Amino acid sequence: MEKKIFIKTFGCQMNEYDSNRIYDSVKKIGFKKTDDQTNTDCFVLNTCHIRDKAKEKVYHEIGRIKKIYRKKNKPIMVLAGCVAQAENQEMLKREPYIDIVIGPQSYHKINETLKQFISSVKKEETDFDTISKFEYFDKIENKSNKISAFLTIQEGCDKFCNFCVVPFTRGPEYSRPFNKILYEAESLIKNGAKEIILLGQNVNAYSYFENSKEYRISNLINELEKYSELKRIRYTTSHPRDMTDDLIDCYKNNKKLMPFIHLPIQSGSNKILKLMNRKHTVEEYINIYEKLKKINSEIEFSSDFIISYPGETNNDFNDTLNLVKKIKFINSYSFIFSPRPGTKAAELKLIDNETSKERLNEIQKYLFIHQIKKNRSFEGKFVEVLTENRTKDKLKLFGRNKFNNSVIFLGDENNIGKLVKVKIENTNQNSLFGKIQKNKSMKAA
Ligand code: SF4
Repeated sequence: MEKKIFIKTFGCQMNEYDSNRIYDSVKKIGFKKTDDQTNTDCFVLNTCHIRDKAKEKVYHEIGRIKKIYRKKNKPIMVLAGCVAQAENQEMLKREPYIDIVIGPQSYHKINETLKQFISSVKKEETDFDTISKFEYFDKIENKSNKISAFLTIQEGCDKFCNFCVVPFTRGPEYSRPFNKILYEAESLIKNGAKEIILLGQNVNAYSYFENSKEYRISNLINELEKYSELKRIRYTTSHPRDMTDDLIDCYKNNKKLMPFIHLPIQSGSNKILKLMNRKHTVEEYINIYEKLKKINSEIEFSSDFIISYPGETNNDFNDTLNLVKKIKFINSYSFIFSPRPGTKAAELKLIDNETSKERLNEIQKYLFIHQIKKNRSFEGKFVEVLTENRTKDKLKLFGRNKFNNSVIFLGDENNIGKLVKVKIENTNQNSLFGKIQKNKSMKAA
């Protein structure tokens, strides 16, 4: 008999991609995706370790699920993702409601693990076995039929920033075979994808060797450019050290590569970058920015900032502030440093809360000013939007412009999957609002 499976996904796009691949996989053993979390046979929490208090949030979630199922049959409770990888033993001991713990590099074993559990064996799968994982998923067609589809090309990280758990939870860098990625891209395009977002923890570190030739992300972008049905290409998340000239040159030659780059810097102080073990300097970052702006002045940046990293003085913070004023990032993430167990930075002395909050408010003030200003610059203009779907209330359409801004607009459902020109009437910090205007000669922003 067919069983239902519900996956609640936390965190980044890579987790979202993994969840979809799990759905594709478990179909083979008779599990069908459900959107009803109150009535499922298998409940998967695909967790994220990046944000604050990740472990506590998982216990809280499980408490909530227990309440839902108090008077019903308990679902098979699967803990997946980075928290599962990092905390597997402890969580199994502390929370008997969890039946299966499976780390991101063991998802190719999910069918086998579920089958074994159904024959009543409690199971923990948290080995780093990335190659087998992708070999397995390569054989299962990616059924995503989204207009904007994710495609993982690389996993893991060898950089070991002192604050980050990714090298421990996702393992060393692994790049998927070039032809397997293109094969998956073709299947996504066949299913209607008009935009492909290449994913990886260090996506621009992609490096695959075949017959002594190295294939980089630039080669992938150049190949994807050739598919006429594909309209847009993006990639995330990149590291400044891997912004090599071949990738920068893609912005000269590729019309489908969007002029918006998320490039985390974390701090504007070289001293702090060194303490973080970031392996790049502020000057190197600015150099990348200037090279790209020279190629196309329209290119915009977003970034990540860790505020009050241990050792950050007022001068260091002011360096970050000056960087934010120089590079007018149009959309960024900024957080007060919070230690992750098992990392080097977890042992360092924290900066007091009051100072940290003041610094965060100050930096966000400037980040938000740029963001709002950029959004307002679209008011009264036409922007090119890739229409993705209807809004939840079904009254409007949703899509994104080149800079990845959400655009909500009035228009016909026939436009889903198409590039349309939308006249922007008003904006807020996060979104642009407008309507499609047909048959007008227009200059798109
Ligand atoms: S480069 Fe990114 S993923 Fe790798 S350790 Fe640093 S922050 Fe983590």
